[in-house]
Amino acid sequence: MRHFDAVSIRPPFLHPCYPRNPWFKVFSLFHANHDYTAPMQSDKPEAQRKTLDDRAKMSELERIRHSAAHVMATAILRLWPEAQFAAGPPVENGFYYDVDLPHRISPEDFAKIEEEMKKEIKANNVFEKIIVTREQAIKDAESGRLGGLTERPGNKSKFKLGNLADIPEGEPISYFKNGDFLDLCAGPHVMRTGNIGAFKLTQVASAYYKGDEKNPQLQRIYGTAFKNKTEMEAYFKMIEEAKKRDHRKIGEEMGLYKIDTEYVGPGLPLWLPKGGAIVEALEQLAKETEFQAGYVRVKTPHLAREKMYTTSGHLPYYAESMFPPMEMDEHRDERKALEANVAILETTLVKFADPIAKAKAEQRQLETGTKPIYTNDGKISLAMEQFKAGGVSGEIATVCRDLTEAKQKLKSLPPADGYFLKAMNCPHHHRVFAAEPRSYRDLPLRLAEYGTCYRYEQSGELFGLMRVRSLNMNDAHIYCTEEQFSDEFNAVNEMYLKYFKIFGIDKYVMRFSTSSPEGLGKKYVNEPELWKKTEDMVRKVLIDSKINFIEVPNEAAFYGPKIDVQVWSVIGREFTLATNQVDFAVPAKFGLTYRDKDNTDKTPLCIHRAPLGTHERFIGFLIEHYAGNFPLWLAPEQVRVITIGDDEKLVAYAKEIVKELRANMVRCDSDFGTDKVNGKILRAEESKVHTMLVVGGRDMDAGAVSVRLHGKGNVGAKPKGEVIADIVQSIKERRP
Ligand SMILES: [Zn+2]
Ligand SMILES: [Zn+2]
Repeated sequence: MRHFDAVSIRPPFLHPCYPRNPWFKVFSLFHANHDYTAPMQSDKPEAQRKTLDDRAKMSELERIRHSAAHVMATAILRLWPEAQFAAGPPVENGFYYDVDLPHRISPEDFAKIEEEMKKEIKANNVFEKIIVTREQAIKDAESGRLGGLTERPGNKSKFKLGNLADIPEGEPISYFKNGDFLDLCAGPHVMRTGNIGAFKLTQVASAYYKGDEKNPQLQRIYGTAFKNKTEMEAYFKMIEEAKKRDHRKIGEEMGLYKIDTEYVGPGLPLWLPKGGAIVEALEQLAKETEFQAGYVRVKTPHLAREKMYTTSGHLPYYAESMFPPMEMDEHRDERKALEANVAILETTLVKFADPIAKAKAEQRQLETGTKPIYTNDGKISLAMEQFKAGGVSGEIATVCRDLTEAKQKLKSLPPADGYFLKAMNCPHHHRVFAAEPRSYRDLPLRLAEYGTCYRYEQSGELFGLMRVRSLNMNDAHIYCTEEQFSDEFNAVNEMYLKYFKIFGIDKYVMRFSTSSPEGLGKKYVNEPELWKKTEDMVRKVLIDSKINFIEVPNEAAFYGPKIDVQVWSVIGREFTLATNQVDFAVPAKFGLTYRDKDNTDKTPLCIHRAPLGTHERFIGFLIEHYAGNFPLWLAPEQVRVITIGDDEKLVAYAKEIVKELRANMVRCDSDFGTDKVNGKILRAEESKVHTMLVVGGRDMDAGAVSVRLHGKGNVGAKPKGEVIADIVQSIKERRP
């Protein structure tokens, strides 16, 4: 594996819970997508320079946005001709351009910059591509022409010079020119500035040139652009709505979780009872669904020895993304005692061998003219030689014997070991597979676990429930034969669809990432036939099941094709929930085999899947999706029984209702206080209690309850038994 570089070695760590990019790090798509209230984190090291291949893949919207960055630079230069520009790529939801300028651009400047941008768009200038030599480009940068409207003597295009140096020899160097603005850029853009349908500047941040804090700090001006005004307005409306539905805000208001940085640690959420109730409801759903689909459940420890992760390939490549190891020495005391004993024995031998060494050295000097110097180790060897030759007796002979014995014992002690918190569950499940001899009759074996994993995320990257350091994953690994693969993979997809229906997820796409022939042996494990076979199998399943998917070449995981599952929340924001992955390499590394019909041992295929992702992320998504107004089956407090007044008989009647609901496993609380019923209802509404059962004297006499639904108001009085039966049924069916 040594010939793979650090980047291409990353994919083995990809897993259902780490969507799209291993450890989310490379493009940080997820982060930009979700951190909608905090200013964007702009000071992380940037992804490497986009390759021409990446650029060719830019979507129409990305082209519009990147073109808008050129137009913004044009506008800024009209206002501040001395501005120096660095990089201006499209990003998730928009674009930015980094600029060096003595004037601090603030949102108050946006209107006048936008005014100038409008002029440039109205002029409808062509984005003209010009190929130049490196010499010409250096000359133009020196004159200040690059990233400028004119030559600017004494103000050279210093960042463009730096960017030029990053263009590999042999790659064409190109400019793009719109109106007077000339920029070093490989494109692509839209045809004309007039193709930018709608745009808006959004924020200012700071960033280091090339993301390196040793470099100058620049102003990063963010904006966004769309095909037309309607799409842009819809986007900003969605952002507004997303702010209201921010899972951190609602999570706190509802008392779902707490991140106790001081005592527990950053990124380690505590599920409070109400959040715990949602966790339980989701696990119950997963357990039922998986049980019906023939899965078996396992439980594995939260940590494992170093050997586990060197075998899986996590170590040493991902060491920085794992919590540091705990050193464990099971024989520490014994080892220490032996080492101390060896030291004492060796000191005795050194003393004993001193005169022998001295005599030897003198004799050597007489013979050769040079006097050797004996180290302590040398002296110990001398003594041991004499002992072995039978030239030592009495106490020293005992010392020699003891030393030999002590050293042997030390050697026989198992070495100290590092234990790591698990970063993913697969290696543990592989060992479960390996725990018993397996035959083809045991396959498919579907091992499921809500496993907790731990990842060391940089503190600056932590974000509410979305990016955390401990993750409860809806994990499972399916070990199967090639013949079984299609059915198994299809069943996994169907499970996704079933979940989408339950959660009212109407819009989704499965992003099917495949390998590329050029990447074999580098970015991808070098098994051309297996790649072709598994990719064909996956593609066929996707086509046959008529599932909504797109195929993305050259983005597979290291050890097999994968499918990222992207869903849209009810307000239209995109989330990457999970990844399905085919793995034809790692089971072999762990030596996993099954005995086939023909009595030979074969390696199973492994499907990694986690449809509900992690509790942390999935509940974060659900909070936004439902704005905290969970359906009855998921609601932390499903029912609250409220009395009108606190009459003794009435309270007794209400208590009976609570008792009956709780006997049916309904999460039910009560409010029997003396205060006014309107106040009680208001409190329940504020806590987003799904169903309020209001009982007064008249209800009691009729054996009825008045039902109120959160956000919907009174839906009328009904017989008590009917209401309870309906609540229980709604939960059982997981009605939306
Ligand atoms: Zn460009
Ligand atoms: Zn896995």
